[in-house]
Amino acid sequence: MAESVRLADRSGIGPSFRGVDLAADLADLKRERNAIILAHNYQVPELQDIADFVGDSLGLSYQAAKTNADVILFCGVHFMAETAKIINPTKRVVLPDLDAGCSLSESCPPEALATFLKKNTDKNYYVIAYINCSAGVKAQSDVICTSGNAEKIVKAAPSDRNILFVPDQNLGAWVVERTGRKMDLWRGTCYVHVEFTARSIRKIREQYAGAPLVAHPECTAAVRMLADEVCSTEKMVSFCKNSAAETIIVVTEAGMLHRLKKEIPAKNFIPGPTEHCACAECRFMKMNTLEKAFNALRDLEPEIILPEPLRKRAEAPILRMLELSK
Ligand code: SF4
Repeated sequence: MAESVRLADRSGIGPSFRGVDLAADLADLKRERNAIILAHNYQVPELQDIADFVGDSLGLSYQAAKTNADVILFCGVHFMAETAKIINPTKRVVLPDLDAGCSLSESCPPEALATFLKKNTDKNYYVIAYINCSAGVKAQSDVICTSGNAEKIVKAAPSDRNILFVPDQNLGAWVVERTGRKMDLWRGTCYVHVEFTARSIRKIREQYAGAPLVAHPECTAAVRMLADEVCSTEKMVSFCKNSAAETIIVVTEAGMLHRLKKEIPAKNFIPGPTEHCACAECRFMKMNTLEKAFNALRDLEPEIILPEPLRKRAEAPILRMLELSK
């Protein structure tokens, strides 16, 4: 009773007061709820700073799989929180903003995939789904991958099966280059990463001559060709730590720069510009704010709810991924 009164009181806190103490209040609330806060590398700095773990999809999947917390506050986009729920059916998973979607996930609706697979039963596809997809797509897949383990997962695919890779065609093409394994690619893209162009990247390279450039595999082939290293956001951290260079150009969603600056303060990070601007921000990732995170943990909503048969079908390929990427 005492707790509910205290939590109810908090809901009356005005915006100016919250501006000062919200991070501290959220930390208190986290303890009261026995919650864990997971934040993706692309979240706003305030959310990265209050999180227990900041990472890429693979790292956060591991954290979600081993947590003892009762509640997971997932600061990321919808498919990520959904993944945490799939792995943790008994825990409450809340997302600060339920509208935080993903253009890549939306480019492969579950119904469209089902229709495609039905039309192509003769291909007997082994479906590899990049984790950036809905539970409905995961449920139709044989195995999931992230940008950090895609190469490993594709190499482990049965050699006598045709592979269908969904939904990101750029990541898929990059893995084909790396492994030599032929795959049919779904034509999805991340709207942020395809905004980087060969022209905008050549320009920044000229401006910072000698600075190495690291790019995410969701970028187009034309951009990847201009990079010194192509890797997941997690591997970007080790690349930047190990590089002898003091200035490094980073071509991915701009939120990544906060983590890099925090973990490697002695180096200088230059955000790769897109054709139109220098922001490269994902509007979905930026929907989550500190205030929405506080409200979500206080109200325990919006909560991710999944029908059990769907959750179970979506869980199997995730567990296969976690097993294969050990
Ligand atoms: S950055 Fe791209 S892939 Fe990531 S959530 Fe945003 S739209 Fe989706």
